[in-house]
Amino acid sequence: MGRPGFGGNNVEVNADEMTVSIDGEVTKVDACNVIPAMKAGRICDMAGITEGNWAPVIPHTMQSRVDENIHVLGDASNQGDMPKSGFAANSQAKVAAMAVRSALTGSKLFPAKFTNTCWSLIDEGDGVKVGASYEATDEKIAKVDGSSARSARMPNCARPRLRKAWAGTKVSLRTCLAEADSRRDHRGPVAPIQGSEKMRKFMMAAAVAALTTPAFADSHGAGQATTYDFDGSFDDATFAVESAIVGAGLVIDYVSHTGEMLNRTGADVGSEVKIFEAADIFLFCSAVLSRKVMEADPMNLAHCPYGIFVAEREGKVMIGYRNYPEGEMQEVQALLDQLAREAAEN
Ligand SMILES: Cc1cc2nc3c(=O)[nH]c(=O)nc-3n(C[C@H](O)[C@H](O)[C@H](O)COP(=O)(O)OP(=O)(O)OC[C@H]3O[C@@H](n4cnc5c(N)ncnc54)[C@H](O)[C@@H]3O)c2cc1C
Repeated sequence: MGRPGFGGNNVEVNADEMTVSIDGEVTKVDACNVIPAMKAGRICDMAGITEGNWAPVIPHTMQSRVDENIHVLGDASNQGDMPKSGFAANSQAKVAAMAVRSALTGSKLFPAKFTNTCWSLIDEGDGVKVGASYEATDEKIAKVDGSSARSARMPNCARPRLRKAWAGTKVSLRTCLAEADSRRDHRGPVAPIQGSEKMRKFMMAAAVAALTTPAFADSHGAGQATTYDFDGSFDDATFAVESAIVGAGLVIDYVSHTGEMLNRTGADVGSEVKIFEAADIFLFCSAVLSRKVMEADPMNLAHCPYGIFVAEREGKVMIGYRNYPEGEMQEVQALLDQLAREAAEN
């Protein structure tokens, strides 16, 4: 019948008759997709924690605003700026788990931080990603200013890794309409990225990076760190590192936005020195390697979790890691080196 996008308050489907009744108007159809209005699961209604279609939450802990003994996360929650995505639900789950642990054991409740990344396929083998960081305010989960600038075209070399990454997070590569909607909410219509100057530079950087010979390692100070130059933007480097870690089947426990913190607090501690334009540290562990090195010496616990950092300083972006002592920890260092190198050569 060629009438896309209609809707109404009272919709009834009669499959035998091949008709749809919308607010009393019966229409014959050949094919029809009926998408019911979205709302939190019935269990939320039964618990009495919904207001309208969703369950409002306290962003610091993901507790229901109606009943603090109930934590709500993901699609069911009315939380603020985050899109309804699997990535967002996962990020909120970590905050909820931390809050529950704190409530049960009295452990420290860290400031809640949230992230979201979504890829949207725009053509066969082509896509764009958007992502943002969020923080808890008393009112809502609020997008951190400027963080939605992380949009990038999928470089050729990222595709196999991306597939692995999504497999690793158990989320299939599907169009993330929720995030696209959220981008529209915050920044007007989704901008066509193809052809933009920024993207042209990015694609050139990606192409150059793909053609260059293996990255050269730099050793720093008394050999405490190894770094590789990254030929591209800070955001692309963080994506490359994230992809390398997840692509290796490892789970990122935490991303420390150390540069952001240093820049935010400099004036408060009486300093005007800007150490980094940006610096993030990706922390993770390895079930296999950590067991191996700690079975050899339990005090190797002191080296866990492992970190790979991305830093931008004086216009140069680098990827690196802390060097470990001789002995069994060298096996962990070899893993860090492999991941950092892989990201730097992305
Ligand atoms: C077509 C489509 C494409 C999407 N693409 C993407 C994408 O590319 N990337 C992305 O990040 N997100 C994507 N999303 C969004 C993502 O799937 C959701 O945001 C995410 O699954 C929400 O997770 P959740 O845990 O909050 O809810 P759900 O995944 O809906 O999980 C809730 C679970 O609770 C169960 N449940 C309900 N009631 C009860 C009960 N009484 N007792 C026990 N269990 C119960 C349900 O069966 C369900 O398994 C997409 C969504 C759709 C519909």
